[in-house]
Amino acid sequence: MKIHNPATGALLADVAADNAKAVRAKYDRARAAQPRWAARPIARRLATIRAFRTELVGRIETLARTLSEEVGKPIRQARNEVNGLTGRLDFFLAESARTLRDERVFENREQKLEERISHEPLGVIANISAWNYPYFVGGNVFIPALVAGNAVLYKPSEFATLTGLHIADMMRAAGVPDDVFVPVIGEGATGAALLRQPVDGVFFTGSYATGAKIAASAGRRMIKVQLELGGKDPAYVTDDVDVRTAAAALADGAFYNTGQSCCSVERIYVHEAVHDAFVAAFVDEVKGYAQGDPLDEKTYIGAITRKPQLGVLRRQVADALKKGATLQLGGAPIRRKGNWFAPTVLTDVDHSMAVMREESFGPIIGIQAVADDDAAVDQMNDTEYGLTAAVYSTDEKRARKLLARVNAGTVYWNCCDRVSPRLPWSGVKHSGIGLTLSTYGIQTFTRPKAWHLKG
Ligand code: NAD
Repeated sequence: MKIHNPATGALLADVAADNAKAVRAKYDRARAAQPRWAARPIARRLATIRAFRTELVGRIETLARTLSEEVGKPIRQARNEVNGLTGRLDFFLAESARTLRDERVFENREQKLEERISHEPLGVIANISAWNYPYFVGGNVFIPALVAGNAVLYKPSEFATLTGLHIADMMRAAGVPDDVFVPVIGEGATGAALLRQPVDGVFFTGSYATGAKIAASAGRRMIKVQLELGGKDPAYVTDDVDVRTAAAALADGAFYNTGQSCCSVERIYVHEAVHDAFVAAFVDEVKGYAQGDPLDEKTYIGAITRKPQLGVLRRQVADALKKGATLQLGGAPIRRKGNWFAPTVLTDVDHSMAVMREESFGPIIGIQAVADDDAAVDQMNDTEYGLTAAVYSTDEKRARKLLARVNAGTVYWNCCDRVSPRLPWSGVKHSGIGLTLSTYGIQTFTRPKAWHLKG
Protein backbone atom coordinates (compact mmCIF):
# COMPACT_ATOMS: atom_id res chain seq x y z
CA MET A 1 0.00 0.00 0.00
CA LYS A 2 1.54 3.30 -1.11
CA ILE A 3 1.27 6.25 1.25
CA HIS A 4 1.46 9.74 -0.24
CA ASN A 5 1.83 13.16 1.33
CA PRO A 6 -1.42 14.97 0.47
CA ALA A 7 0.33 18.35 0.61
CA THR A 8 2.93 17.51 -2.04
CA GLY A 9 1.91 14.24 -3.66
CA ALA A 10 5.31 12.77 -2.68
CA LEU A 11 5.54 9.08 -1.84
CA LEU A 12 6.10 8.71 1.90
CA ALA A 13 6.16 4.95 2.31
CA ASP A 14 5.22 1.64 0.81
CA VAL A 15 3.81 -0.69 3.47
CA ALA A 16 2.55 -4.25 3.31
CA ALA A 17 -1.22 -4.50 3.74
CA ASP A 18 -2.85 -7.45 5.50
CA ASN A 19 -4.75 -9.86 3.28
CA ALA A 20 -7.71 -11.91 4.54
CA LYS A 21 -5.43 -14.77 5.65
CA ALA A 22 -3.19 -12.42 7.65
CA VAL A 23 -6.23 -10.81 9.27
CA ARG A 24 -7.51 -14.25 10.31
CA ALA A 25 -4.14 -15.16 11.83
CA LYS A 26 -4.06 -11.89 13.79
CA TYR A 27 -7.55 -12.53 15.06
CA ASP A 28 -6.63 -16.06 16.19
CA ARG A 29 -3.60 -14.79 18.10
CA ALA A 30 -5.62 -12.02 19.75
CA ARG A 31 -8.30 -14.52 20.78
CA ALA A 32 -5.69 -16.76 22.38
CA ALA A 33 -3.94 -13.88 24.17
CA GLN A 34 -6.97 -11.99 25.54
CA PRO A 35 -7.77 -14.14 28.63
CA ARG A 36 -4.23 -13.74 29.98
CA TRP A 37 -4.45 -9.97 29.52
CA ALA A 38 -7.84 -9.84 31.23
CA ALA A 39 -6.48 -11.91 34.13
CA ARG A 40 -3.84 -9.28 34.90
CA PRO A 41 -4.97 -7.05 37.76
CA ILE A 42 -6.26 -3.72 36.47
CA ALA A 43 -3.41 -1.93 38.25
CA ARG A 44 -0.94 -3.75 35.99
CA ARG A 45 -2.91 -2.95 32.85
CA LEU A 46 -3.02 0.69 33.92
CA ALA A 47 0.75 0.64 34.48
CA THR A 48 1.28 -0.27 30.82
CA ILE A 49 -1.00 2.58 29.75
CA ARG A 50 1.04 4.91 31.95
CA ALA A 51 4.16 3.63 30.18
CA PHE A 52 2.43 4.27 26.83
CA ARG A 53 1.89 7.86 27.94
CA THR A 54 5.60 8.20 28.71
CA GLU A 55 6.45 6.84 25.24
CA LEU A 56 4.05 9.30 23.65
CA VAL A 57 5.45 12.31 25.49
CA GLY A 58 9.00 11.29 24.61
CA ARG A 59 8.21 11.08 20.90
CA ILE A 60 5.93 14.07 20.37
CA GLU A 61 8.04 15.75 17.67
CA THR A 62 8.42 12.59 15.58
CA LEU A 63 4.77 11.70 15.95
CA ALA A 64 3.57 15.20 15.08
CA ARG A 65 5.78 15.31 12.00
CA THR A 66 4.56 11.95 10.71
CA LEU A 67 0.97 12.97 11.30
CA SER A 68 1.48 16.28 9.54
CA GLU A 69 3.15 14.65 6.53
CA GLU A 70 0.64 11.84 6.30
CA VAL A 71 -2.64 13.77 6.54
CA GLY A 72 -1.54 17.33 5.65
CA LYS A 73 -2.35 18.67 9.12
CA PRO A 74 -0.57 21.89 10.14
CA ILE A 75 2.33 20.95 12.41
CA ARG A 76 1.13 23.01 15.38
CA GLN A 77 -2.26 21.31 15.21
CA ALA A 78 -0.56 17.91 14.89
CA ARG A 79 1.41 18.67 18.04
CA ASN A 80 -1.79 19.80 19.79
CA GLU A 81 -3.39 16.51 18.91
CA VAL A 82 -0.58 14.33 20.23
CA ASN A 83 -0.40 16.48 23.37
CA GLY A 84 -4.17 16.36 23.68
CA LEU A 85 -4.10 12.58 23.93
CA THR A 86 -2.17 12.88 27.20
CA GLY A 87 -5.19 14.66 28.75
CA ARG A 88 -7.44 11.79 27.74
CA LEU A 89 -4.93 9.25 29.01
CA ASP A 90 -4.84 11.06 32.35
CA PHE A 91 -8.62 10.85 32.58
CA PHE A 92 -8.64 7.11 31.87
CA LEU A 93 -5.74 6.53 34.26
CA ALA A 94 -7.56 8.39 37.03
CA GLU A 95 -11.09 7.03 36.54
CA SER A 96 -10.88 3.46 35.20
CA ALA A 97 -10.21 1.48 38.38
CA ARG A 98 -13.10 3.14 40.22
CA THR A 99 -15.43 2.87 37.24
CA LEU A 100 -14.75 -0.83 36.63
CA ARG A 101 -14.84 -1.91 40.28
CA ASP A 102 -17.36 -4.62 41.18
CA GLU A 103 -20.39 -3.10 42.86
CA ARG A 104 -22.54 -4.54 45.63
CA VAL A 105 -26.00 -3.18 44.84
CA PHE A 106 -28.02 -5.07 47.44
CA GLU A 107 -27.44 -7.00 50.64
CA ASN A 108 -29.86 -8.73 53.05
CA ARG A 109 -28.06 -10.33 55.97
CA GLU A 110 -31.13 -12.22 57.23
CA GLN A 111 -31.71 -13.86 53.89
CA LYS A 112 -27.93 -14.10 53.36
CA LEU A 113 -28.51 -12.59 49.94
CA GLU A 114 -26.15 -10.37 48.04
CA GLU A 115 -26.47 -8.88 44.56
CA ARG A 116 -23.42 -7.66 42.69
CA ILE A 117 -22.45 -6.31 39.30
CA SER A 118 -19.07 -6.97 37.72
CA HIS A 119 -17.74 -5.41 34.53
CA GLU A 120 -16.44 -8.13 32.22
CA PRO A 121 -14.38 -7.33 29.14
CA LEU A 122 -16.17 -7.93 25.84
CA GLY A 123 -13.26 -10.08 24.60
CA VAL A 124 -11.65 -9.34 21.22
CA ILE A 125 -12.81 -6.12 19.64
CA ALA A 126 -12.34 -4.55 16.21
CA ASN A 127 -11.48 -0.84 16.25
CA ILE A 128 -11.83 0.63 12.76
CA SER A 129 -10.67 4.20 12.73
CA ALA A 130 -10.69 7.46 10.78
CA TRP A 131 -7.72 9.59 9.69
CA ASN A 132 -8.74 13.10 10.68
CA TYR A 133 -7.80 12.81 14.37
CA PRO A 134 -6.16 9.39 14.59
CA TYR A 135 -4.80 9.87 18.12
CA PHE A 136 -8.12 11.10 19.48
CA VAL A 137 -10.63 8.85 17.74
CA GLY A 138 -8.32 5.84 18.11
CA GLY A 139 -7.37 6.57 21.72
CA ASN A 140 -11.00 7.05 22.75
CA VAL A 141 -11.46 3.38 21.92
CA PHE A 142 -8.25 1.41 22.28
CA ILE A 143 -7.13 2.91 25.61
CA PRO A 144 -10.27 2.16 27.68
CA ALA A 145 -10.79 -1.10 25.76
CA LEU A 146 -7.34 -2.33 26.79
CA VAL A 147 -7.76 -1.09 30.36
CA ALA A 148 -11.01 -3.04 30.60
CA GLY A 149 -9.21 -6.25 29.60
CA ASN A 150 -10.02 -6.56 25.90
CA ALA A 151 -7.68 -7.46 23.05
CA VAL A 152 -7.88 -4.84 20.30
CA LEU A 153 -7.54 -5.39 16.56
CA TYR A 154 -6.87 -1.81 15.52
CA LYS A 155 -7.31 -0.82 11.91
CA PRO A 156 -6.05 2.70 11.38
CA SER A 157 -7.40 4.51 8.35
CA GLU A 158 -5.37 3.86 5.22
CA PHE A 159 -4.68 7.63 5.29
CA ALA A 160 -3.15 7.44 8.78
CA THR A 161 -1.30 4.14 8.56
CA LEU A 162 2.12 5.43 9.62
CA THR A 163 0.55 6.98 12.71
CA GLY A 164 -1.17 3.66 13.41
CA LEU A 165 2.18 1.88 13.20
CA HIS A 166 3.75 4.42 15.59
CA ILE A 167 0.91 3.76 18.05
CA ALA A 168 1.50 0.00 17.83
CA ASP A 169 5.22 0.52 18.37
CA MET A 170 4.57 2.61 21.50
CA MET A 171 2.17 -0.02 22.84
CA ARG A 172 4.84 -2.67 22.38
CA ALA A 173 7.46 -0.48 24.06
CA ALA A 174 5.05 0.11 26.94
CA GLY A 175 4.67 -3.62 27.54
CA VAL A 176 1.30 -4.37 25.96
CA PRO A 177 1.68 -7.87 24.47
CA ASP A 178 1.91 -7.97 20.64
CA ASP A 179 -1.19 -10.12 20.36
CA VAL A 180 -3.27 -7.90 22.65
CA PHE A 181 -2.92 -4.66 20.69
CA VAL A 182 -2.68 -5.69 17.05
CA PRO A 183 -2.51 -3.25 14.13
CA VAL A 184 -4.40 -4.41 11.04
CA ILE A 185 -3.11 -2.57 8.01
CA GLY A 186 -5.00 -1.85 4.81
CA GLU A 187 -7.89 -0.14 3.06
CA GLY A 188 -11.64 -0.73 3.25
CA ALA A 189 -11.31 -4.34 2.05
CA THR A 190 -9.03 -5.10 5.01
CA GLY A 191 -11.58 -3.51 7.33
CA ALA A 192 -14.26 -5.72 5.79
CA ALA A 193 -12.04 -8.81 6.26
CA LEU A 194 -11.56 -7.84 9.91
CA LEU A 195 -15.32 -7.65 10.39
CA ARG A 196 -15.72 -11.17 9.03
CA GLN A 197 -13.85 -12.47 12.10
CA PRO A 198 -15.97 -13.56 15.07
CA VAL A 199 -15.07 -10.49 17.13
CA ASP A 200 -17.06 -9.56 20.25
CA GLY A 201 -17.52 -5.89 19.43
CA VAL A 202 -17.09 -3.39 16.62
CA PHE A 203 -16.07 0.18 17.39
CA PHE A 204 -16.06 2.26 14.25
CA THR A 205 -15.27 5.91 13.54
CA GLY A 206 -15.84 7.15 10.02
CA SER A 207 -18.45 8.19 7.52
CA TYR A 208 -22.16 7.50 7.68
CA ALA A 209 -21.94 5.58 4.38
CA THR A 210 -19.41 3.08 5.75
CA GLY A 211 -21.05 3.02 9.18
CA ALA A 212 -24.40 2.06 7.68
CA LYS A 213 -22.78 -0.84 5.79
CA ILE A 214 -21.08 -2.05 8.97
CA ALA A 215 -24.29 -1.83 11.00
CA ALA A 216 -26.14 -3.88 8.37
CA SER A 217 -23.49 -6.60 8.26
CA ALA A 218 -23.16 -6.79 12.06
CA GLY A 219 -26.90 -6.80 12.70
CA ARG A 220 -27.38 -10.58 12.82
CA ARG A 221 -24.35 -11.23 15.01
CA MET A 222 -25.63 -9.92 18.34
CA ILE A 223 -22.39 -8.16 19.18
CA LYS A 224 -21.88 -4.67 20.44
CA VAL A 225 -21.60 -2.14 17.60
CA GLN A 226 -20.68 1.48 18.16
CA LEU A 227 -20.60 3.95 15.29
CA GLU A 228 -19.17 7.45 15.57
CA LEU A 229 -20.08 9.06 12.29
CA GLY A 230 -20.28 12.37 10.50
CA GLY A 231 -21.88 15.67 11.30
CA LYS A 232 -23.27 18.87 9.83
CA ASP A 233 -22.81 20.85 12.99
CA PRO A 234 -24.67 24.16 13.28
CA ALA A 235 -23.98 27.31 15.26
CA TYR A 236 -26.39 30.15 15.95
CA VAL A 237 -25.29 33.71 16.63
CA THR A 238 -27.95 35.73 18.45
CA ASP A 239 -28.42 39.50 18.19
CA ASP A 240 -26.84 40.24 21.60
CA VAL A 241 -23.24 39.18 20.92
CA ASP A 242 -20.01 40.99 20.29
CA VAL A 243 -19.79 40.00 16.61
CA ARG A 244 -15.97 40.16 16.39
CA THR A 245 -15.53 37.72 19.27
CA ALA A 246 -18.19 35.36 17.94
CA ALA A 247 -16.80 35.55 14.40
CA ALA A 248 -13.24 34.76 15.55
CA ALA A 249 -14.42 31.78 17.62
CA LEU A 250 -16.62 30.38 14.86
CA ALA A 251 -14.06 30.86 12.09
CA ASP A 252 -11.68 28.78 14.20
CA GLY A 253 -14.45 26.22 14.78
CA ALA A 254 -15.06 25.98 11.04
CA PHE A 255 -11.50 26.03 9.70
CA TYR A 256 -9.33 24.38 12.38
CA ASN A 257 -7.90 21.09 11.07
CA THR A 258 -8.72 22.47 7.61
CA GLY A 259 -12.39 21.90 8.38
CA GLN A 260 -11.79 18.16 8.53
CA SER A 261 -13.21 17.52 12.00
CA CYS A 262 -16.32 15.52 12.78
CA CYS A 263 -17.37 18.45 15.00
CA SER A 264 -16.26 21.29 12.73
CA VAL A 265 -18.81 24.07 12.53
CA GLU A 266 -20.36 23.35 9.12
CA ARG A 267 -23.21 25.91 8.98
CA ILE A 268 -23.81 29.18 10.76
CA TYR A 269 -27.14 30.92 11.38
CA VAL A 270 -26.97 34.58 12.32
CA HIS A 271 -29.75 36.77 13.66
CA GLU A 272 -30.58 39.19 10.86
CA ALA A 273 -29.92 42.19 13.12
CA VAL A 274 -26.20 41.37 13.26
CA HIS A 275 -25.81 39.31 10.08
CA ASP A 276 -23.93 41.80 7.92
CA ALA A 277 -21.55 42.87 10.68
CA PHE A 278 -20.91 39.23 11.54
CA VAL A 279 -20.15 38.29 7.94
CA ALA A 280 -17.71 41.19 7.56
CA ALA A 281 -15.88 40.22 10.76
CA PHE A 282 -15.88 36.53 9.80
CA VAL A 283 -14.43 37.13 6.32
CA ASP A 284 -11.81 39.42 7.85
CA GLU A 285 -10.80 36.72 10.29
CA VAL A 286 -10.53 34.01 7.62
CA LYS A 287 -8.45 36.28 5.37
CA GLY A 288 -5.89 36.35 8.18
CA TYR A 289 -5.39 32.56 8.14
CA ALA A 290 -2.11 31.37 6.64
CA GLN A 291 -2.56 28.45 4.27
CA GLY A 292 0.41 26.49 2.98
CA ASP A 293 3.16 24.03 3.86
CA PRO A 294 1.79 22.02 6.81
CA LEU A 295 5.29 21.76 8.29
CA ASP A 296 5.57 25.55 8.53
CA GLU A 297 4.89 26.70 12.10
CA LYS A 298 2.83 29.63 10.80
CA THR A 299 0.41 27.51 8.79
CA TYR A 300 -3.17 27.39 10.03
CA ILE A 301 -4.90 25.77 7.02
CA GLY A 302 -3.28 22.69 5.53
CA ALA A 303 -4.03 20.25 2.75
CA ILE A 304 -7.15 18.22 2.01
CA THR A 305 -6.26 14.69 3.07
CA ARG A 306 -8.31 12.74 0.52
CA LYS A 307 -8.22 13.88 -3.10
CA PRO A 308 -11.87 12.95 -3.92
CA GLN A 309 -12.98 15.49 -1.30
CA LEU A 310 -11.86 18.30 -3.62
CA GLY A 311 -14.66 17.23 -6.00
CA VAL A 312 -17.21 17.22 -3.14
CA LEU A 313 -16.23 20.77 -2.14
CA ARG A 314 -16.25 22.01 -5.74
CA ARG A 315 -19.70 20.53 -6.33
CA GLN A 316 -21.09 22.08 -3.11
CA VAL A 317 -19.87 25.54 -4.16
CA ALA A 318 -21.23 25.18 -7.71
CA ASP A 319 -24.61 23.96 -6.41
CA ALA A 320 -24.86 26.86 -3.94
CA LEU A 321 -23.92 29.48 -6.52
CA LYS A 322 -26.40 28.06 -9.03
CA LYS A 323 -29.16 28.38 -6.41
CA GLY A 324 -28.38 32.00 -5.53
CA ALA A 325 -25.62 32.00 -2.92
CA THR A 326 -23.02 34.77 -2.77
CA LEU A 327 -19.35 33.86 -2.72
CA GLN A 328 -17.57 36.01 -0.14
CA LEU A 329 -14.20 34.28 -0.26
CA GLY A 330 -12.39 31.38 -1.98
CA GLY A 331 -14.57 28.92 -3.82
CA ALA A 332 -12.08 26.74 -5.70
CA PRO A 333 -9.17 24.31 -5.44
CA ILE A 334 -5.72 25.90 -5.43
CA ARG A 335 -3.40 24.97 -8.27
CA ARG A 336 -0.32 23.51 -6.67
CA LYS A 337 1.05 20.02 -6.06
CA GLY A 338 -1.09 18.01 -3.65
CA ASN A 339 -4.71 18.54 -2.59
CA TRP A 340 -5.59 22.15 -1.80
CA PHE A 341 -8.82 24.09 -1.49
CA ALA A 342 -9.08 27.79 -0.68
CA PRO A 343 -10.96 28.71 2.51
CA THR A 344 -14.46 29.46 1.30
CA VAL A 345 -17.28 31.57 2.75
CA LEU A 346 -20.75 31.52 1.22
CA THR A 347 -23.69 33.74 2.22
CA ASP A 348 -27.32 33.99 1.02
CA VAL A 349 -27.49 30.24 1.46
CA ASP A 350 -30.53 28.11 2.32
CA HIS A 351 -31.43 24.49 2.92
CA SER A 352 -32.06 23.70 -0.74
CA MET A 353 -28.26 23.75 -1.08
CA ALA A 354 -25.99 20.76 -0.43
CA VAL A 355 -23.53 22.98 1.46
CA MET A 356 -26.17 23.41 4.21
CA ARG A 357 -27.25 19.76 4.30
CA GLU A 358 -24.37 17.42 3.41
CA GLU A 359 -21.14 17.02 5.33
CA SER A 360 -18.48 19.19 3.63
CA PHE A 361 -15.41 18.04 5.58
CA GLY A 362 -13.26 20.86 4.28
CA PRO A 363 -12.53 24.58 4.63
CA ILE A 364 -15.92 25.80 3.51
CA ILE A 365 -18.83 27.39 5.36
CA GLY A 366 -22.33 28.66 4.64
CA ILE A 367 -23.70 31.59 6.68
CA GLN A 368 -27.48 32.09 6.68
CA ALA A 369 -29.51 34.97 8.14
CA VAL A 370 -32.47 34.02 10.37
CA ALA A 371 -35.34 36.20 11.64
CA ASP A 372 -35.46 34.96 15.25
CA ASP A 373 -34.57 32.24 17.75
CA ASP A 374 -37.37 29.90 16.67
CA ALA A 375 -36.25 30.03 13.06
CA ALA A 376 -32.68 29.31 14.18
CA VAL A 377 -33.74 26.20 16.13
CA ASP A 378 -35.82 24.97 13.16
CA GLN A 379 -32.83 25.33 10.85
CA MET A 380 -30.39 23.74 13.30
CA ASN A 381 -32.64 20.69 13.66
CA ASP A 382 -33.31 20.42 9.91
CA THR A 383 -30.55 17.85 9.33
CA GLU A 384 -29.97 14.12 9.10
CA TYR A 385 -27.09 14.50 11.57
CA GLY A 386 -26.83 15.39 15.26
CA LEU A 387 -23.30 15.49 16.61
CA THR A 388 -22.85 18.99 18.10
CA ALA A 389 -24.53 22.41 18.05
CA ALA A 390 -23.50 25.80 19.43
CA VAL A 391 -25.22 29.01 20.48
CA TYR A 392 -23.37 32.31 20.86
CA SER A 393 -25.14 34.78 23.12
CA THR A 394 -24.36 36.95 26.14
CA ASP A 395 -27.59 35.69 27.72
CA GLU A 396 -26.98 32.29 29.34
CA LYS A 397 -30.68 31.64 29.98
CA ARG A 398 -31.57 32.29 26.37
CA ALA A 399 -28.73 30.07 25.16
CA ARG A 400 -29.62 27.19 27.47
CA LYS A 401 -33.28 27.34 26.42
CA LEU A 402 -32.26 27.12 22.79
CA LEU A 403 -29.74 24.35 23.34
CA ALA A 404 -32.33 22.27 25.19
CA ARG A 405 -34.39 22.27 21.98
CA VAL A 406 -31.54 21.16 19.72
CA ASN A 407 -31.31 17.47 18.90
CA ALA A 408 -27.57 16.73 19.18
CA GLY A 409 -25.22 14.63 21.28
CA THR A 410 -23.23 17.66 22.45
CA VAL A 411 -24.24 21.31 22.86
CA TYR A 412 -22.06 24.36 23.45
CA TRP A 413 -22.70 27.82 24.84
CA ASN A 414 -20.13 30.36 23.58
CA CYS A 415 -17.73 27.66 22.46
CA CYS A 416 -17.58 25.01 19.73
CA ASP A 417 -15.45 22.24 18.20
CA ARG A 418 -14.50 21.12 21.70
CA VAL A 419 -14.23 17.63 23.23
CA SER A 420 -13.78 16.83 26.91
CA PRO A 421 -12.67 13.43 28.23
CA ARG A 422 -15.06 13.95 31.16
CA LEU A 423 -18.15 14.18 28.95
CA PRO A 424 -19.74 11.50 26.77
CA TRP A 425 -19.08 11.87 23.05
CA SER A 426 -22.03 10.66 21.02
CA GLY A 427 -24.28 11.52 18.14
CA VAL A 428 -27.93 11.17 17.26
CA LYS A 429 -29.50 10.21 13.91
CA HIS A 430 -26.85 9.67 11.19
CA SER A 431 -24.10 10.83 13.55
CA GLY A 432 -24.09 7.38 15.06
CA ILE A 433 -24.92 5.14 17.99
CA GLY A 434 -23.09 4.47 21.23
CA LEU A 435 -20.51 6.72 22.85
CA THR A 436 -16.92 7.14 23.89
CA LEU A 437 -15.26 9.20 26.68
CA SER A 438 -16.54 9.94 30.20
CA THR A 439 -16.95 7.08 32.64
CA TYR A 440 -19.71 5.70 30.37
CA GLY A 441 -17.04 5.45 27.68
CA ILE A 442 -15.00 3.20 29.96
CA GLN A 443 -17.90 0.92 30.87
CA THR A 444 -18.90 0.64 27.23
CA PHE A 445 -16.02 -1.77 26.64
CA THR A 446 -17.45 -4.16 29.20
CA ARG A 447 -20.51 -6.29 29.71
CA PRO A 448 -22.21 -5.94 33.10
CA LYS A 449 -22.55 -9.36 34.71
CA ALA A 450 -25.23 -9.89 37.37
CA TRP A 451 -24.33 -11.94 40.48
CA HIS A 452 -27.06 -13.33 42.79
CA LEU A 453 -25.22 -14.75 45.80
CA LYS A 454 -27.11 -16.70 48.44
CA GLY A 455 -25.12 -17.88 51.45
P1 NAD B 1 -14.45 6.25 6.07
O1 NAD B 1 -15.82 5.77 6.37
O2 NAD B 1 -14.08 6.43 4.64
O3 NAD B 1 -13.36 5.24 6.65
C1 NAD B 1 -13.29 4.91 8.03
C2 NAD B 1 -12.60 3.58 8.19
O4 NAD B 1 -13.42 2.53 7.67
C3 NAD B 1 -11.25 3.46 7.48
O5 NAD B 1 -10.35 2.80 8.34
C4 NAD B 1 -11.59 2.59 6.27
O6 NAD B 1 -10.50 1.86 5.78
C5 NAD B 1 -12.65 1.67 6.85
N1 NAD B 1 -13.57 1.04 5.88
C6 NAD B 1 -13.98 1.52 4.68
N2 NAD B 1 -14.86 0.65 4.12
C7 NAD B 1 -15.01 -0.38 4.98
C8 NAD B 1 -15.81 -1.57 4.99
N3 NAD B 1 -16.61 -1.87 3.97
N4 NAD B 1 -15.73 -2.39 6.05
C9 NAD B 1 -14.95 -2.07 7.11
N5 NAD B 1 -14.16 -0.98 7.16
C10 NAD B 1 -14.20 -0.14 6.12
O7 NAD B 1 -14.24 7.60 6.89
P2 NAD B 1 -12.96 8.56 6.93
O8 NAD B 1 -12.85 9.30 5.64
O9 NAD B 1 -11.77 7.82 7.43
O10 NAD B 1 -13.37 9.58 8.08
C11 NAD B 1 -14.11 10.73 7.88
C12 NAD B 1 -15.50 10.58 8.48
O11 NAD B 1 -15.39 10.21 9.84
C13 NAD B 1 -16.28 11.88 8.48
O12 NAD B 1 -17.62 11.61 8.11
C14 NAD B 1 -16.20 12.33 9.95
O13 NAD B 1 -17.26 13.17 10.33
C15 NAD B 1 -16.23 11.02 10.64
N6 NAD B 1 -15.68 11.15 11.99
C16 NAD B 1 -16.53 11.05 13.07
C17 NAD B 1 -16.04 11.21 14.37
C18 NAD B 1 -16.98 11.12 15.55
O14 NAD B 1 -16.48 11.09 16.66
N7 NAD B 1 -18.29 11.09 15.39
C19 NAD B 1 -14.69 11.45 14.56
C20 NAD B 1 -13.84 11.55 13.46
C21 NAD B 1 -14.36 11.38 12.18
